[in-house]
Amino acid sequence: MISDQLYFTSLYIWIFLAIIMFPVLLKVIVPYGRHTSSSWGPKINNRLGWILMEAPVVIVFSWFFFTGSASKSIPVYIFYGLFMLHYANRILIFPFKMKSKPQQMPWLIILLAICFNFLNGFFNGYWFGTLSPNYEMSWLYDPRFLIGLLLFIVGMYINISSDNKLFDLRKGGKSGYYIPYGGLFKYISSPNLFGEIIEWLGWALMSWCLPSFSFALWTMANLIPRAVDHHRWYYHRFTNYPKDRKAIIPKVL
Ligand code: NDP
Repeated sequence: MISDQLYFTSLYIWIFLAIIMFPVLLKVIVPYGRHTSSSWGPKINNRLGWILMEAPVVIVFSWFFFTGSASKSIPVYIFYGLFMLHYANRILIFPFKMKSKPQQMPWLIILLAICFNFLNGFFNGYWFGTLSPNYEMSWLYDPRFLIGLLLFIVGMYINISSDNKLFDLRKGGKSGYYIPYGGLFKYISSPNLFGEIIEWLGWALMSWCLPSFSFALWTMANLIPRAVDHHRWYYHRFTNYPKDRKAIIPKVL
């Protein structure tokens, strides 16, 4: 148990850090996947890296959720279930769909991601496990819940289907990188990252609380700069890259 004051002070610092990290990440290319680099120290296999860095959030969130003293209603179990659904895909399915020789990932990235996932799991797990006010069943009919749920489902669909389109580019044992076409790739270079942002904005809206908004904010702070890096990379790599395609927000960015 920690005091409410300590929890909220830490959460405000956490939110402030997300705001600080956004411009920092616009300057720094985070070196994994296509941007992998030797300058960030020793590396391990990408696939194992994804599992190691994402698994802690499932454990930490679940621990604080189930050991917390708050009474939990159906809406709260839905928030928990959707969160776990996303991470079941990210840990148990996504890494095994990666095609060809997986890139290497620096240990430093994995350690930073573990720290992030530990804190995100704590802030959300402790909130829903201990501090959260009870959500009545009537919350299931609230427009915030319904619109948030719709955004979550649509975002998850965009995220997974776009990841799958990228995996398909290496069908038939091919390796290397190709220009992706189809779906939202017509408008943006990283619909998978766009989908993930929509997903967590939806989760924040449907659960309507500060810790879930902090996660959505962090997701944007991480993924918008990464999408900008991917977009620039495509332009340098392919002279015939579609000129009207944006990085992550159709027609805008
Ligand atoms: P990428 O889009 O860079 O890569 C996804 C997979 O597709 C990788 O296996 C990659 O291979 C392959 N790939 C990508 N582009 C091409 C191409 N043009 N031709 C052939 N193969 C390609 O994804 P990210 O690493 O940026 O993100 C992966 C997933 O993780 C996304 O769903 C994203 O939303 C999520 N994510 C979430 C974060 C969060 O903060 N919540 C943070 C970062 C990612 P290779 O590995 O060889 O490059």
